[in-house]
Amino acid sequence: MRVVVVGGGINGLLTARELVAGGAEVVLLEQGEFGREASWAGGGIVSPLYPWRYSPAVTALASWAQQAYPQLAADLLAETGIDPELERCGLLFIDAPDARDARVWAAGHDMPVEVLDHAALHARWPGLAADAGEGLFLPTLANIRNPRLLKALLAALRAHPRVQLREHAEVVAMQPGSNGAAVTLADGHVVSGDAVVVCGGAWSGRLLATLGSSLPVRPVRGQMQLYRLAPGALPSMIMRAGHYVIPRRDGHVLCGSTLEEAGFDKSTTEQAHDILRAAALRLWPALAQAPLLQQWAGLRPGSPNGIPFIGAVPGQDGIWVNAGQFRNGLVLAPASARLLADQLLGRTPVIDPLPYSLAY
Ligand SMILES: Cc1cc2nc3c(=O)[nH]c(=O)nc-3n(C[C@H](O)[C@H](O)[C@H](O)COP(=O)(O)OP(=O)(O)OC[C@H]3O[C@@H](n4cnc5c(N)ncnc54)[C@H](O)[C@@H]3O)c2cc1C
Repeated sequence: MRVVVVGGGINGLLTARELVAGGAEVVLLEQGEFGREASWAGGGIVSPLYPWRYSPAVTALASWAQQAYPQLAADLLAETGIDPELERCGLLFIDAPDARDARVWAAGHDMPVEVLDHAALHARWPGLAADAGEGLFLPTLANIRNPRLLKALLAALRAHPRVQLREHAEVVAMQPGSNGAAVTLADGHVVSGDAVVVCGGAWSGRLLATLGSSLPVRPVRGQMQLYRLAPGALPSMIMRAGHYVIPRRDGHVLCGSTLEEAGFDKSTTEQAHDILRAAALRLWPALAQAPLLQQWAGLRPGSPNGIPFIGAVPGQDGIWVNAGQFRNGLVLAPASARLLADQLLGRTPVIDPLPYSLAY
């Protein structure tokens, strides 16, 4: 089987990897450069942000993917020499108003949880702001260095004999068909296969609209700041009042993020600068002395309740979609890609596909 995958973010790259692992031949098309949109811009927390607040549909994908990530990271390191730096540093929630729900949820999902009163919290994280009240720590949660993950995936696909990678190849039209589907590129070339999978992130709704199909996926801008501390100075990820800091192995610290309806505009703003800077200092006051290295924006593929669409597009033979992971596309990606490949290759799906079906 030959499959045309549209979009070279985390979902396109991992979908391609799953399909070739299942024996398919893949052509991966990207309108810009591979792995430079939302998947690069994200923080790489390998968990939904307040995981107990999500629907079972999101949790099912997240749980499967969290189990799969260590092996994926190890395989990529072995195959390419690039370490995606999966760090199980834990995620500390400060003053979550629904901490009780969190504890119930964690107990029901076999997720270790530590509850810390004010004294215990400050004894263990002496760098916290003095007004941090109580803590809830999920010690098994990890983050992954997403730009490295993307680089490693790309290197592995480049080395694969059944994969063709094409950058600056914008898909402008799609042709469904019961004997095979095809896409037309902006330069007029047609690329055909037995199936087409749309992994176009925030652009997926726009692409499906060219066929007259409706896919409620829209861009939701997120801005992020990058600081640098000494390696190990920030011992875990911390989340407070909707903002978070994420430590990388080399001392870099990310602070995110904003949630903005700004269409396809990827500019950074002064307003977000001020919001994120204030959040960073409230989360980890030592960042006041750290240089702000960069601020950037990315476009999340927003979808209703953050539940992605993974499956065949009704009424459009040979056209499939894997998009709409919203705030959780990095954590959900291994499961999303596997679920798409299982359905397309006619295997028993690892997760019930119904909640992600476009016909649901
Ligand atoms: C600030 C921020 C923080 C985030 N933090 C996290 C986090 O900590 N954890 C987490 O799990 N998720 C996080 N996310 C969300 C996550 O980054 C996204 O859900 C995920 O990257 C979406 O991946 P994708 O492959 O679907 O989209 P993208 O990475 O956007 O890739 C889609 C690709 O398709 C290409 N494309 C689109 N249309 C066409 C076309 N017509 N022809 C050819 N190519 C096309 C685009 O150019 C793009 O490269 C964050 C996002 C942001 C912005």
